[in-house]
Amino acid sequence: MRTQRQVVDYSLQKRAVLRELLAGRVGTYDVCDASPYLKNAARFHGEPTDRRCPICRSENLTLVHYIYGDELKQSAGQARTLAELPVLAMTLREFQVFVVEVCLGCDWNHLVEQYLLGRDGLTGDSDGTNEQNAAGAEGAGRRRREAQR
Ligand SMILES: [Zn+2]
Repeated sequence: MRTQRQVVDYSLQKRAVLRELLAGRVGTYDVCDASPYLKNAARFHGEPTDRRCPICRSENLTLVHYIYGDELKQSAGQARTLAELPVLAMTLREFQVFVVEVCLGCDWNHLVEQYLLGRDGLTGDSDGTNEQNAAGAEGAGRRRREAQR
């Protein structure tokens, strides 16, 4: 997405959890604890993937996108489909997206990444505006000086 920025990737943490699991230091019960809310979000707003669940290896993972930010007001903390995000990104200045992968088979879930979206990330456009403003101010200054003469 064009306005995506400040991406934090959690794949290292995920691999660490899977290693702990393989080593028997944590049980599947500890990591396969998707809440009913998360599973509903996955069913209704989730993005299906073709990646197999690393735990049960019988279901494909679903990605859930949660959105947070002051501008979202009562929508903050809700799950949105991937298709809705670019629309929001053009409407709002800035909001945070948390991507969680969920397995609807065994309830495995883990934070995949987080990032910011929103119009504030449109650097190209804002640069253009700034240049225009600067040129406009300069022009106005010149006109003022000319008027004083
Ligand atoms: Zn699974």
